[in-house]
Amino acid sequence: MLSRLEPSARPGTVYLVGAGPGSADLITVRGLKLLQSADVVAHDALIHAELLAEISPAAERVFVGKRGYCVGSTRQETIHELLARHAREGRSVVRLKCGDPCVFGRGGEEAEYLAEQGIPFEIVPGVTTALGACAAANIPLTHREAGQVVAFVTGHFDPDSAECKLDWAALAGLSNLVIYMGLRHVERITAKLAAAGMPGDTPAAVIENATLPGMRTIDGELATIAGLARAAGVQAPAIIVIGPAVRFRDRLLQLAELAHTSN
Ligand code: SAH
Repeated sequence: MLSRLEPSARPGTVYLVGAGPGSADLITVRGLKLLQSADVVAHDALIHAELLAEISPAAERVFVGKRGYCVGSTRQETIHELLARHAREGRSVVRLKCGDPCVFGRGGEEAEYLAEQGIPFEIVPGVTTALGACAAANIPLTHREAGQVVAFVTGHFDPDSAECKLDWAALAGLSNLVIYMGLRHVERITAKLAAAGMPGDTPAAVIENATLPGMRTIDGELATIAGLARAAGVQAPAIIVIGPAVRFRDRLLQLAELAHTSN
């Protein structure tokens, strides 16, 4: 019999699985089944403990992230090598990432590496934070009266640095923006959009701990949201939503309240 630690003739598959936006029950059925049957699970921070409890006790569990961001502090090359090594031993490997593996999650780079190495992989989608957070906060992102476009934006880079390639004038002209990893730079992000012509009274919200028990939504406008979020002491993980769709949150909450009191 082949020892499980010897290189196997047939490599195992690496599944790049999206864990969803926070709450453990927002993973897909396929993702959960793969998690339960994996031999090895390499996961980021921000994965709910109830989801990690689904991993088989016989499986090897490797933490490859850091708290606060799903983008790990473990070197990307180290993660690539770890995934490849376990797959070559014939194991079924789940790479569990928050949200969707390919939305600001480096899933594409991992898939590329595995493909180059001849290791089979499958990308299993997850509910990305933008969608999970907006659903939980009652923001209908593509409401027909709220414009015709949604952009997912990374706020990770300092807007004044050369690393930041965002075209602020183009973004300011779009109807709805969802900004990931933007809390640290929220003052400058909103200032850049305002300077590029986005009206200061454009509705905006910051959603903290989306879909989790401690979830909070701070409502404001482009001109006020940074100050309001700071005053409220918002911490990561949080996402920023800017655009007319945010206005519908109030309307939905009021209608829901009315329906509740009249029943
Ligand atoms: N692949 C992930 C995004 C990774 S980038 C996805 O598809 O959602 C990490 C960023 O996601 C955080 O900085 C934050 O902006 C956002 N995020 C992740 N989980 C969140 C949560 N529960 N609530 C609010 N924002 C969250």
